[in-house]
Amino acid sequence: MLLAEIISVGTELLLGEIVDSNAAFLARELAARGITLHRKVVLGDNLKRLAEGLRTALARADLVIVGGGLGPTDDDLTREAIAEVLEETPTEDPALLAWLEGLYAARGRSMPQVNRKQAWLIPSAQALPNPVGTAPGWFVQTGGKIIVALPGPPRELQRMWREQVLPRLPLPDHALFAVTLHTQGIGESNIAELLGDLTKAANPSVATYARQTGVDVRVAASAPTTGEAQVLATPVLDTVRHILARWIWGEDGDTLAGAVTQTLGGRTLGVIEAGSGGALCLLLADQPGFLDAAVTVDHARLITLGLTPVTLGSVGVVSEAAARELAAGAREHLGAEVGLAVVTATAGEQAGQAFVALSAENVENVAHVNWPGDPAQIRERAAVAALALAYRTLRLPQPSGKAGHA
Ligand code: ATP
Ligand code: MG
Repeated sequence: MLLAEIISVGTELLLGEIVDSNAAFLARELAARGITLHRKVVLGDNLKRLAEGLRTALARADLVIVGGGLGPTDDDLTREAIAEVLEETPTEDPALLAWLEGLYAARGRSMPQVNRKQAWLIPSAQALPNPVGTAPGWFVQTGGKIIVALPGPPRELQRMWREQVLPRLPLPDHALFAVTLHTQGIGESNIAELLGDLTKAANPSVATYARQTGVDVRVAASAPTTGEAQVLATPVLDTVRHILARWIWGEDGDTLAGAVTQTLGGRTLGVIEAGSGGALCLLLADQPGFLDAAVTVDHARLITLGLTPVTLGSVGVVSEAAARELAAGAREHLGAEVGLAVVTATAGEQAGQAFVALSAENVENVAHVNWPGDPAQIRERAAVAALALAYRTLRLPQPSGKAGHA
């Protein structure tokens, strides 16, 4: 079994200025190739801590992947740290230096002296060519272990990983097959209860993740080939699909908006958003049944869209009554067969409150959500809640009367 650890290098990662998407990319790549990952670490641009981090990672893992810190400046310290840990002395590699100088010459410039260290190599390291940047990577083999150093810019890291690193790795004969089922309208602990012992097995594994769109259930199996992994996963997958059939709205790359479109069955959808700034429209933008929308917080305009002055005067815009009136209004005033409304507040006393309502010929439904958060989060959650309500309401065989509270 090949055991890996990832070290992402950069003080800006520690400060939260950028998100460590490189580690997420590498983790997915490793999982897909049957390489076990036990740790992802983020370290700042500090030689002592980098060396320390490398040393401990090397003691535990067979493969250590370092992302970032290969630039030309003083705070790019990955090469220095690797050399220090292996007690090897970097020397300028003439071929790398010529390549680097060539890059600059091609743009009619001379290479700044600080870039010389990008031509460094140590005896255990092989250079990994960088076709889209100036920082070559390192592929280091030492005492049965491998250290891979890749530049931080995701475009460079991803391309070099695929083209330079993968062909050099002693990949285990393991492949992963995984399917993620998306559910709506059931909580994570209820799912765990229904799945029982299924979630305790390791291969295939069944794991739940709470997401904004509902709870995801991921079924994964590993085996020497993808085909065998699929054979192993299939019976468990079928069982989970069967147990959760009432709540599953999609799989893998499916979107909730797409699932809502399915339940529309050809009907047109109109949307009214008050306070969510078009977040729901954005989610629905690519959907064929999405007919028309109004996005406004203006009271006079909302009244022309179906909000009654009585509701406005008594309970206000962010209320169940307003959501219901505007969902009906989306049908009447936007000419859609199904109306969906969101009313929410991102600031003030009602910040985080949202009501979502759906209106269709034989059915009406409303839901209330209350989450604190920043305005972008509140808008996004309210929009997702509207889709979730629409999905839950429309997928049911529709009664002739009105549906109750969600
Ligand atoms: P360069 O030659 O560009 O200096 P480098 O190897 O020194 O490459 P860094 O200086 O660490 O890389 O990062 C360069 C840029 O790459 C960062 O400013 C950031 O935009 C991006 N980056 C670095 N690390 C990550 C990461 N872990 N996830 C996502 N982006 C990253
Ligand atoms: Mg840098």
